[in-house]
Formats: sequence, structure tokens, C-alpha cells
Amino acid sequence: MNGQIQVLGCSGGLGSETGSTCIRVGKSVLIDAGTGLSSLRLEAMREIKHVILTHAHMDHIASLPMFLSNMFEDVDHQVQVYALPHTIEKLQNHIFNDEIWPDFTRSMGPCGPVLKLHEIHPGDVLELEGLTFTLFPVDHTIPTVGVSVRGALGIGLSSAGAPEAGAQNPASETWSSCEERAGTDQHFVFTSDTTAGELLNRELNKLGAINVLMIECSFPNEKHELAVHTKHMTPNMVDATLENLKIAPKEVWITHLKPSSETKLRQQLRHHHIL
Ligand SMILES: [Zn+2]
Ligand SMILES: [Zn+2]
Repeated sequence: MNGQIQVLGCSGGLGSETGSTCIRVGKSVLIDAGTGLSSLRLEAMREIKHVILTHAHMDHIASLPMFLSNMFEDVDHQVQVYALPHTIEKLQNHIFNDEIWPDFTRSMGPCGPVLKLHEIHPGDVLELEGLTFTLFPVDHTIPTVGVSVRGALGIGLSSAGAPEAGAQNPASETWSSCEERAGTDQHFVFTSDTTAGELLNRELNKLGAINVLMIECSFPNEKHELAVHTKHMTPNMVDATLENLKIAPKEVWITHLKPSSETKLRQQLRHHHIL
């Protein structure tokens, strides 16, 4: 199976069981490059060829610079990074500017520059490694896309509800349980960072039947104002979003819990029967 989903990081901060957002799809594609990427061994890192960045926030790009410097000396391929124009502009001006970190779009490795940046837009479809990645707009504080992945993903054949064995478990457990449930035509959807509302409801409903919906939930219900201000979600918002779906996903994986609120978030999500 070439498209298995491995959650390398799904925390909304530092100090939790995993690092921050990074999802490996198959052996060669990453969605986001947060600190969870550091859990990959060097040999596995060398197989990464494509990185889709959902937005420019640090918890989603933190490991990209050092990952690329790992690749610089001894890989035989360029790393293709797909990002919104806003994200590319931030990367070029503030990270890969030859001051904070080398400009890997120009620094030469054995096969030329190790990094190639590709501009993407909501609605774009990328065919990578035999899988179809569709980008959809979400509502966050900066331009951000969610990602739909269709193909042989090896996920979600079980309709066992929303297990705690979802996105909050260490990557190895997610990986092995996925291996056992391999399938050929499946649909994984990652919302990235977003708040609830019309846009998210409409975009998720447009995507149709979903095997696994990986949806963020950053703050507990008491911090509703903060969630609105920072354009994240609370358990009440996640519940309302799921209620609005015309077709219920087979599984819901919760991601991006803020470590300081994790216990409370788990209680509230269980109250909604989401965990
Ligand atoms: Zn964000
Ligand atoms: Zn984030």
C-alpha cells in the first residue's frame, strides 16, 4: 500500500505526546512540517519528495528548514514544497533568506537546489504518488487550506466511531492499525487550523463521503472567545460542524489540542461522544 497515513505530530503546542502538525502520506509525501517531523528517522526522511504546507504558522513549518538541510548533502532528488502565495512569501522573506537559514531554492546540492517552491491555490488538485490531493479553503487568521486525499490510503474501513486511537496517539500505533485496514479507494480529510462556520460546513459537504476526518480542536468551551479571536475550534464548534455534515465521516480524528487544556478538552470531547 503506497498511501498509508502516518500522523507524525498532531499537538497544538510543545510538551505533549507528539510534536506539532506533520502527517506522512505513504513514504514520500508530507502534509505540514511541524516538530512531529523530527520523529522520522534519517532514512525515512530521505524518501520525502513532496511537502504540502497548509499555512505559514510556525507549528506547521518549524521542522522544514532543518529537514531540508538534512537532505542537502545526500539525496538524489529535489524536495517539492507546495504552498499558498502568502506562505511562500513568508518562507522566502523570513526563513530562507540566507540569514535565518540558507536560501535552499538557490543553494546547490548534488542535484541542484534542494528546494523547489510551487504556488498552490484553494481548489487546486495535485496528483502525487498515485494519490489525489485536493486543497480547499478554511477560515483561519492567515490564508490557509485544508487537504483532501483520495486513493489507496489504508484507513477508515472500520466504522468503530471516533477512537482515542485517532490523531492523538503516537504515530507508530496509528501506522500499524492503518496497515491492517488497508483499502483501495478511500478519503482522508485534514481541516488544518480553522474556525467553525459557513465556509467550513460548505467545503466539507462539497467533499462528500469521508472515511477519516481529521479536525482541529484547540481550546475548551470556556475559551470560546479566544477560539473565535484566533480562528480555532472548541468541542462545541466541532460538534456543530459534525452536525452540519450531510454524510457523517466513518471516523473523526481530533488534532491540535493545546497541551495546557488537553485534559479538559478530552473530557468535553467525550461529553459530545466525539472521543
Ligand atoms: Zn495556524
Ligand atoms: Zn497550528
